[in-house]
Amino acid sequence: MALHKGTRGPRAGEARPALSVNPLYGEANPASGMTCTPSRHRLPDGPMAPTTAYQFVHDELMLDGNARQNLATFVTTWMEPQADRLMSDCLNKNMIDKDEYPRTAELERRCVAMLAHLWHAPDPDSVMGCSTTGSSEACMLAGMAFKRRWAKRNPVSYPATARPNLVMGTNVQVCWEKFCDFWEVEARQVPVEGNRFHLDPQAAVDLCDENTIGVVAVLGSTFDGSYEPVAEVCRALDDLQERTGRDIPVHVDGASGAMVAPFLDQDLVWDFQLPRVASINTSGHKYGLVYPGVGWILWRTADDLPEELVFRVDYLGGDMPTFALNFSRPGAQVAAQYYTFVRLGREGFRAIQQNTRDVARSLAERIEAFGDFTLLSRGDQLPVFAFTTAEDVGGFDVYDVSRRLRERGWLVPAYAFPPNRQDLAVLRVVCRNGFSADLADLFLDDLASLLPELRSQPAPTGKVVKAFHH
Ligand SMILES: *Cc1c(COP(=O)(O)O)cnc(C)c1O
Repeated sequence: MALHKGTRGPRAGEARPALSVNPLYGEANPASGMTCTPSRHRLPDGPMAPTTAYQFVHDELMLDGNARQNLATFVTTWMEPQADRLMSDCLNKNMIDKDEYPRTAELERRCVAMLAHLWHAPDPDSVMGCSTTGSSEACMLAGMAFKRRWAKRNPVSYPATARPNLVMGTNVQVCWEKFCDFWEVEARQVPVEGNRFHLDPQAAVDLCDENTIGVVAVLGSTFDGSYEPVAEVCRALDDLQERTGRDIPVHVDGASGAMVAPFLDQDLVWDFQLPRVASINTSGHKYGLVYPGVGWILWRTADDLPEELVFRVDYLGGDMPTFALNFSRPGAQVAAQYYTFVRLGREGFRAIQQNTRDVARSLAERIEAFGDFTLLSRGDQLPVFAFTTAEDVGGFDVYDVSRRLRERGWLVPAYAFPPNRQDLAVLRVVCRNGFSADLADLFLDDLASLLPELRSQPAPTGKVVKAFHH
């Protein structure tokens, strides 16, 4: 989470040391009549009434953005009231306490089984899998399994001399750079080049050596929504094995696409049908349609997840095996995921993802038709597309467009592509369930109404220096 530096309150002379509470909520502090001023940075001396405390926190949160107009995030912002109710039923259930809450553990097990089937695991009985807090944790676990398998294959060189490496594109999500940094694995990254905005299979194989713990293929790339060619990557690695004997496993980071492709792109072979794919992750809270806080990771067989990484915790009673970075975690998201699976079924997921993709494609096309923009992707893989200003546009840039859209409440990030295309700055639109065709029309109207002014600018108004993390 955001790392906050400094614990001091405001210094002398600084404005507004305390927060002010509307006097109408005055039941707060009978001793001082209608007003109370809780400190902003110190634990207050005493309690306040629950209704006041609620209103007080609620008012502050009101200034958070309107999630429906947020076209930057992949994460679910709307669920049905029934899902809300289930989640509040489970808020107090701790996932790790599997002996106390065996039914929650059972729902998790069923979700793993459903995903194993959805992703064509050849032997569902030998699949290993678990829920996580999201894809980032899932990717850490996948990377750890890769690293340990490599270490076991190389007992002589490990850990003294050899440095393990992981091969991927420069377009990977930051969680892979995090994994490499935290677990001291060299990140070997294939740059994006020209009009290829994701991993090139041959270039990936060229980076592999005897210390390569695995190759990551992303379905689909957060930068432009395109699917990486997982089957081609596997084929190139098959060829490498034939030539050199090196057997390098593939992990598919399906944070978004692993819950899109199975419903919309059934002819695409990207999952456990490819024998080289050892593990797959997804974010339950992206196109799995659950609120933030759930991801999934599955390994093809128990051999792909070294046994010594699995913990059996018996001090809560029971000895259910676990593999996770954290210990306690709420059970609500897992219950909500199971609800989503049984509520929608394959046909429900297909209909929703198709609708979202239709919105994305139509919006991309209509943005292209303005003539001011060039599409880099068309929303026909992930329902996500990236676009930049057309070559002959000199008066404004993507940062201007992003800033002006924000004035109308729309959050559309502008950012530079990764190496070797840092010269290319784009806008990205992520369509999700809840961003309806009607909302897309309103968005397009707003963009259209901004264009005359943007076109009349003599030059871009200057880049907003603001990091955007995928
Ligand atoms: C979002 C994303 C992640 C990180 O997922 P979280 O669930 O947010 O932790 C990792 N990889 C890809 C490709 C993503 O799109």
